[in-house]
Amino acid sequence: MTDQFSARGSSAPSPVLLAGQVLEWSLGSENLNSPAGSADQEVRRMSLPRCVGGLRPDIMTSAERMEAVMVGLRPDRVPFNLFGAGFSARNVGYPVEVVYTDPQKCLRAQLWTGEQFGCEPTTGTGYASYGAYEFGGEIRMPRSRWESAPSIVRPAVESEEDLEKLDLPDVKDAGMIPTLMGISKLQERLGLPISCGISGDPATNAANMVDVNRFCRWMVKKPELAHRALRLSTDHIIQAWDYWIETFGAERVSVGVYVTIGANQIMSPKQFEEFVIPYQVELHDRIRDTGIKGAMFHICGEQNLNLPMIRELYLGTRQTPFMLSFGHEVDLDRAIEMFPDSIICGNVEPQIIQNGTPQRVYEVTRIAIEKGKSAPRGFILMTGCDLPPMAPGYNVWTMRKAVSDFGFYD
Ligand SMILES: [Zn+2]
Repeated sequence: MTDQFSARGSSAPSPVLLAGQVLEWSLGSENLNSPAGSADQEVRRMSLPRCVGGLRPDIMTSAERMEAVMVGLRPDRVPFNLFGAGFSARNVGYPVEVVYTDPQKCLRAQLWTGEQFGCEPTTGTGYASYGAYEFGGEIRMPRSRWESAPSIVRPAVESEEDLEKLDLPDVKDAGMIPTLMGISKLQERLGLPISCGISGDPATNAANMVDVNRFCRWMVKKPELAHRALRLSTDHIIQAWDYWIETFGAERVSVGVYVTIGANQIMSPKQFEEFVIPYQVELHDRIRDTGIKGAMFHICGEQNLNLPMIRELYLGTRQTPFMLSFGHEVDLDRAIEMFPDSIICGNVEPQIIQNGTPQRVYEVTRIAIEKGKSAPRGFILMTGCDLPPMAPGYNVWTMRKAVSDFGFYD
């Protein structure tokens, strides 16, 4: 990975030439199956970072920086991951929905936005409503300024009978999987890290499959039905991971696991123990057993009371490069103390980036960086959850300036 980045960086064409190439490229329509050397390679090349005025110059490339963190070495500075596919689309003039429907635009938007703000490149996507569409329900793409991601129009299960009849879907054809696979194939062609966009969150996917309110009622009144939905959603995730592993090889694939509905705003710690942990144990074991290259565990929202149980997932086990991403509700000092062997990511509050003044964004970013830099296994600056598509670009630039001012390890 490092070699590819540095080799291409040394032969990057001049900005003048790039401008013409981009114009030509943007007018063409690209076939996803066309061979390498295509217009997409030009997008990849133009997106390599150059010197940005006013920032302290980096010593490493983005790829070198991420590789250092992954293997446990200290990089030149804290990496900065946007966690913002929808924001990136809007930032380059695309509708937000392209990151869920169009692999090429999804990648272009994130590469261009990463280049603009000097962020470490991420190019995948995923969505928190996963599970409804994939099991036969219906979703709606974000169209208005109030919608930042797909939302559920109709769950796959509307009665106990529906759940009894429900089977696993064809993993290659279910819901958004063809688009997510298209993104991964494009990542492969461009020599980028391959991220599997399947939501590794059995409880949230099960709740999306049957409707969140119904799932919450079943957890209390009919737990056997909640567990049936969880069995289906867990088996689907494992099938999908296997599909990615067969296609690309475990050593090249990264996956994401989440505990979104397990947040204590929705679920009690006791329910977390019964309905979240056993299925997360299965997924964590699967990651270790298959040798999947990397995994990001997004511990979304208010999870303070669940942290001791989450820690159990890691005690006494081999540490794959596991990155643990926290929301602003979990203090980074506590996260570092509880998970000293994991790469800590987080946790600038998205609401502040969207609504706060640049001064406030700079301040909360500085605090996150200064706490995060003490993480013994490494730290990646991220938003605490998805960067809102409507966040002002200047606030994101302000975060990048704080990385330059406080993020270097010297
Ligand atoms: Zn989140």
